Parts: sequence; structure tokens; C-alpha cells
Amino acid sequence: MPTLPKRLLIALAVLAALLAAWLGFAAWYDHHQRANERPATYSALIEQAGRGEISSITFANGTGHALAADGSRYRVVMPVTDDLLKELRAHAVAISFEEGPGGLMAQTVGVLDRAAPFVVVALLIGGLLMSGGQFFGMGRATRVRPEDTNTVFADVAGVDEAKEELRETVQFLKDPRRFAMAGARVPKGILLVGPPGTGKTMLAKAAAGEAGVPFFAASGSDFVEMFVGLGAARVRSLFKTARANAPCILFIDEIDALAGKRGESTSHSEREQTLNQLLVEMDGIVEGGEVVVIAATNRSEMLDPAVLRPGRFDRHIHVSLPDVAGREAILGVHAGRLTLAPDVCTRTVARGTPGFSGAELANLTNEAALSAARQGRVVVTMADYEAAKDRVLMGTERRSLALTAHERRLIAVHEAGHALVSLRCPQADPIHKATIIPRGGALGMVVRLPEGDRVSVSRAKLMADIAVAMAGRAAEEMAFGPDHVTTGAEADFRAATDLARRMVTAWGMSEEIGFVAHAAAEPGARSERTAWRIDEEVRRITDEGMEHARRLLRSNREALDGIAQALLERETLSGGEIAELADREQERATEAA
Ligand code: ADP
Ligand code: ZN
Repeated sequence: MPTLPKRLLIALAVLAALLAAWLGFAAWYDHHQRANERPATYSALIEQAGRGEISSITFANGTGHALAADGSRYRVVMPVTDDLLKELRAHAVAISFEEGPGGLMAQTVGVLDRAAPFVVVALLIGGLLMSGGQFFGMGRATRVRPEDTNTVFADVAGVDEAKEELRETVQFLKDPRRFAMAGARVPKGILLVGPPGTGKTMLAKAAAGEAGVPFFAASGSDFVEMFVGLGAARVRSLFKTARANAPCILFIDEIDALAGKRGESTSHSEREQTLNQLLVEMDGIVEGGEVVVIAATNRSEMLDPAVLRPGRFDRHIHVSLPDVAGREAILGVHAGRLTLAPDVCTRTVARGTPGFSGAELANLTNEAALSAARQGRVVVTMADYEAAKDRVLMGTERRSLALTAHERRLIAVHEAGHALVSLRCPQADPIHKATIIPRGGALGMVVRLPEGDRVSVSRAKLMADIAVAMAGRAAEEMAFGPDHVTTGAEADFRAATDLARRMVTAWGMSEEIGFVAHAAAEPGARSERTAWRIDEEVRRITDEGMEHARRLLRSNREALDGIAQALLERETLSGGEIAELADREQERATEAA
């Protein structure tokens, strides 16, 4: 559903104001008309009429409004009876009746009543015409002029990598010619990927602020229209506006609403046209426009591959939830506006808010200020921050904050296990990072970087992957003893078992079973004995992976503890940091021995 265009809203507001003014006037007029009426009694009026002093009476709603010959007016409640009318007529009083409640106000209301359906139809037609006009006009991007963009990189805290990546864009927008002369191709389409509230909009705005160029912002959902062609027209007009103001930054939030995978929902020609228009415009910009398009999404895997092709949104910047240091920095930025009591320690607040986004931390700061204000204080104390945290948490279910120190340690050891074994298995994918910041359903994770698109995978790599999967549990066992292992390895076991089963039944990697494609066979086609042997083989392979993981962890025990400790302190470690830590701890251990 398209929202009501602004101009239609303005027209409606003007109409409502006019109507209100007219009704006000009518009420005033009615009041004025009858203000100088004096109440009179029935008998007095009849008497006056008998003396020929009443020239007219108007009946409305059980009340008679009488006009005397001398100009004075009377109001009398009187039932209209035949006798009364006969009496009045006998004295030459002019008689009239008003329908319903009398007065201008009542008449207006009566007219509106009858006209309502026509007014609604007229408004609808007017609205369509006006919004139609707008589709081919300005589009609906909000525009921020360079002199009004006061957001700069310093306002966005804890996302240093993303800022670093955007620096080149800022340089380009400041001096596009320098890049052109060097023959450099600067990415014109940048995709910011990350959970909501992590500062993606802020980053784009700050890039414009740093470069001193205009900033145009629209949301992908603005382009989802009911009528074929309207979304595309809007995309066209948006880019046209941006080109006319180049150099500038065009920001499109929620790009997935506009550029989701084709054919996933029912093929919808309006969506297709809008997406195609976006592709056309992106290609046009690559050929010389000094416009940088920054789009944001929290699910890049939902995007149509065509959008990600070279020259379109080919530069991806990940903006993740802040770690403890990042949270402290963000709290610092937002607390800058407050007067803090000496007992406030942002470091402690940061430690107590794992999984909070930048937006939630901004909200938390604001709640703390409100808590102080409610008690008539200007100075914000640590107790205000505590109260604010409870308030913010009330709205969100966050398991991580209910974790005990022991549970956090367990998660850190588990993730350290995965990280270390994958580091020590040359065939496994390299580690990108390890984190104990909860996200989605997981309390922690190790992100690995697959090396390109593999066409085929070797047995050695599969065995390494299985050992890496087993390493979380293996580490728990080693650090806390077999009685204290947790349910946290469920997904790991599922992944490992799945790989092992396919090795046995599809990829011919088990001597025992041979080269039979059991996975492709009909379910009932296997004998019970074969099914049993397959299960045994899967078991043997996963056990082998577990043994491998245990061996590696045993001989790297110091490194395991070091990584777990670092994760507890910093929450997120990069692949490089993990490798460095592991080597240092191992070295120290051999020296000591
Ligand atoms: P996104 O676009 O990723 O959903 P926004 O940029 O709209 O997030 O952030 C919403 C608000 O949250 C910002 O206006 C700011 O107050 C706060 N915020 C989010 N991330 C940060 C950050 N890294 N540093 C400072 N404030 C932040
Ligand atoms: Zn795990």
C-alpha cells in the first residue's frame, strides 16, 4: 500500500481547516442571531399576539422564535397544535417552519451529510491525480544539504573498520577529478550489511558530512507500489535528483525490500520493473556520475544476485554489533550531552550490555537522563543507568544478560576450541573472527572464510571440518570435566553427522561401505544390515574427528586458555589476533618446559 503523498495530506489539512472555519462562523452566526432573543412564557406570547404585536413566528424543533412588531425577539417552547396555529393566524402572525434543528450550523451539517459520498469520491480522484503528479516530480527522498549535515565520523563510535573503508569514498567525493586523472575506478555502489541499529544510516550520513556533499535518503519500502511502473518511475526520479546534485551520496535503506531475489515471492511485474530500473540507474552512474549510492540491509543473502554484480553494489562493508570496547565508545558519545556523576563508569555499563546495538545504547543513555529528570536531578548517576538498563531490557528478551559468569566462561572456552582447532588444521577454512556476542539464536560463534567457491572438496578437508565442529565440546570437556559439558554443541554435532553421513552414502569415502550411492537409493532399498553398517561408519568418522580435536587441544592447552580469556575480555577476536595469541602462548609454554 502506498502511503498518502505529502501534497494530498496538505490539501486535506487545508480542506479541514476551511470546513472548521465555516462551522465556527455558522455557530457564531446562529448564536448572534438568537442571542438577543428573550425567553418568554407561552401565555405571555399568546397575549401579545392577541394585541397584534407579533409579526412572525418560526417553529423549529419544538421551539417558537417570535419577532415582535417593535423588533424585539422572543423564544418560547411551544407544542405546535391546530388550535395554536388557528389562533396565530387569526391575529395575522406569519407562520413558518424550519426542518430539524434550525440555524445555519444545522443547515451546514445537513448539506455535508448529503454531500459526503461526493466529497469522498472527489477526494479520492484528487488524491490519485495529485500523487500521480508527484510520481513524475521530486520522488520522496529526504534531502539534507551539506550545510545541514553535521554528522561526522566522530559521532559514529566503535565501527572503525567501516569508517576506514568509507574514507576512500569521502576522498573521491571531495575531489572526483583527482581520481579520474589517475584512472582509478572508485566503487559507486556500497552495501552496508548488519543488524538494525548498528549505525549504518549514521555512517552514510557521516560520509556525506565529511565530504561536504548533499545527502539523499530513501527507503526500499518506499518503492514498493501497487501500480505497475510507479516504483520504477520513482527510482528514476530519485537518481535524476541525485545526478543533478552531484557530487552527492544517495542512501537507500532496506534495499532488500526493493531488490529481493526475483521469483522468490510470486513473480510480480511491478517488483521486476522497479528492480530493473535500479539496475539501469546503477549502471548509468558507473559511467561517469559522481554519485555514490550507499545501501543498507541486514540480510544480504536475500538480495538478487544481479544487484551485487561488479559495478553495482560490489563493495560490501560489514557493520556488526559492537563489542565491549565499541559499546563503551558509543556510550561515551551519547553521554557527552549529559552531566555525569563521578560514580558513573561507562566501562561497567558496557560490560553489562552484551548484544546491545548502538541504537539500544543511545536509548539506554536517554532513559538514564529521563530517570534523573523524573527525580528533579540534572546529574545522571550510575543508579540511573541501572534503572535505564532494566527499562530497555523489559522490551527485549535477551538471554545473554541472564548468563552467569560461569556460563560466559563456558561459551568462551567452547568458541576458543573451534577457533584453535581450525587454526591448527591446515585444510580447514581460515578463521575470520570469533565472538561471544550473542546473535540470532547463537550465544557465540566462529566465522570462517571459505576460500572461493569450491567445486569439489577433499576427504582431508571434510575430516578437518568435522574435527573443527567437534572442538567446541572437546574444549568444554577439557576445561570443565566430562560432567560439566553443555547442550551448546547440538548444532555442531548435527553439522558433523551430516557431513560424515554424506561421506559414507554419497561420496564413496568409506572403505567399509565402498562406492555405493546409498544416499540416492530408495529409502526401502537398503538392507537392515547395510543401514546398520552405515550408521557404524558415520559413528567411526565422527569419533575420529572428536579424537583429532582432543589431541590438538591437549597439545595446545595454553593457547586454548589464552584465547578463551581474551574472548571473555574483548568478546570479539579477529583471525589474525587469534593466530598471534595462539603462537605467543605456545611459545611461552615451550620456554617454561
Ligand atoms: P541503522 O541504520 O544501522 O539501523 P542508525 O544509523 O539508524 O542504525 O542508528 C540509529 C541510532 O542509534 C543513531 O541515530 C544513533 O543515535 C544510534 N547509534 C547507532 N549506532 C551508533 C554508533 N556506532 N555510534 C553512535 N551512535 C549510534
Ligand atoms: Zn560450537
